[in-house]
Amino acid sequence: MVLVDTHSHIFVQEFDLDREQTIARAAEVGVQKFILPNIDSSSIPRLLETSQAFPNVCFPLMGLHPTSVGKDFEKELEVVEDWLTQHKFYGIGEIGIDLYWDKTYVEQQKEAFAYQIRLAKKHNLPIVIHARNSFDEIFEVLDKENDSALRGVFHSFTGGEKEYKRIMSYGGFILGLGGVVTYKNGGVDKVVPLMDTSEIILETDSPYLSPVPNRGKRNEPANLIYTAKRVADLLNIDIQHLASATTANAIELFGITSK
Ligand SMILES: [Zn+2]
Repeated sequence: MVLVDTHSHIFVQEFDLDREQTIARAAEVGVQKFILPNIDSSSIPRLLETSQAFPNVCFPLMGLHPTSVGKDFEKELEVVEDWLTQHKFYGIGEIGIDLYWDKTYVEQQKEAFAYQIRLAKKHNLPIVIHARNSFDEIFEVLDKENDSALRGVFHSFTGGEKEYKRIMSYGGFILGLGGVVTYKNGGVDKVVPLMDTSEIILETDSPYLSPVPNRGKRNEPANLIYTAKRVADLLNIDIQHLASATTANAIELFGITSK
């Protein structure tokens, strides 16, 4: 069984003491590839260092995270744009809108999101969307920017049936399922049974959102197995079937190699 952790911040400081062991523990349970979404200009050196240390295992994305959108967001976007011309990246991420922590820069967040969607189209790359308390604002931007060339994933999807259907109606998007599917009060477990295996990929969002039975601890890619088991149960299919479908979806979306 081969799994891809499609959203993993294993380049952050929390893994400095055991990054290699973390990747080895993941490989033991079949998690062999990792998509690494960027945060902002300050995380780029670590992102690139980690990707270079584990070639063909770690695949970096370039983008400005919505919680890093502030007064200087235009400068930050210049950095993103600049790196896209200098280095190979496998997508634009993570980008989107987060109104959970702070609503001060909502207009700037929308602008940064739209701008990075256009960068994705220009470079023919998929987008990785972070949506937190912001489906209305995300849909508002997507309604304007979506076209047949745009594709991507709603990472750590936690919406209901209505949001699921709206996302599917855009045509080029799939859903990233993470640890929240294992939470009793998560809610998304009621929507997963409606999904087709062609519509989903799996992720941990390490070091955050650790699935049950490790909820509350530092999350790491080996925990992807708990999320995979839960999703397979909800879809009433075996885990091998889920693994092969979601791995194929991840390979296709990010254009990574299977070996
Ligand atoms: Zn993330």
